[in-house]
Amino acid sequence: MITEIDASRLLVWRAAWLAHNGGYQNAEGSQSKLKAGRTAVWVTERAMQILGGYGYTREYPVERMHRDAKIYDIFEGTEQIQQLVIARALSGMRIE
Ligand SMILES: Cc1cc2nc3c(=O)[nH]c(=O)nc-3n(C[C@H](O)[C@H](O)[C@H](O)COP(=O)(O)OP(=O)(O)OC[C@H]3O[C@@H](n4cnc5c(N)ncnc54)[C@H](O)[C@@H]3O)c2cc1C
Repeated sequence: MITEIDASRLLVWRAAWLAHNGGYQNAEGSQSKLKAGRTAVWVTERAMQILGGYGYTREYPVERMHRDAKIYDIFEGTEQIQQLVIARALSGMRIE
């Protein structure tokens, strides 16, 4: 989990650095958004699993963290739209 979080954080920092230093080459912003959203969902799902029933129940905050994480796959560009942006940037083609 920490490895995935660190990898996502580094992608976000790379995107931020590029945004301030010449711009993106290969849709690095979308790459970071895609990866970090997926990581948030995966890590919070793993946290629920570790806690078993306590992870699932609404009495504890982890199920809420999992639902909150899922929105990062949807708003500010869904996963699929990030993939479209990345594919277009890499291929130069107008992929629909
Ligand atoms: C809580 C919340 C807050 C939001 N806040 C904002 C905001 O502040 N500002 C703002 O502008 N927007 C906001 N949005 C909108 C958000 O950014 C998404 O653009 C929007 O939710 C996507 O439209 P939709 O839900 O109608 O899904 P649809 O467009 O109907 O898409 C449904 C599914 O189909 C997929 N899909 C759609 N087109 C393609 C395609 N061409 N290829 C492959 N898959 C595709 C999508 O990825 C998605 O999984 C918010 C959404 C939510 C839920």
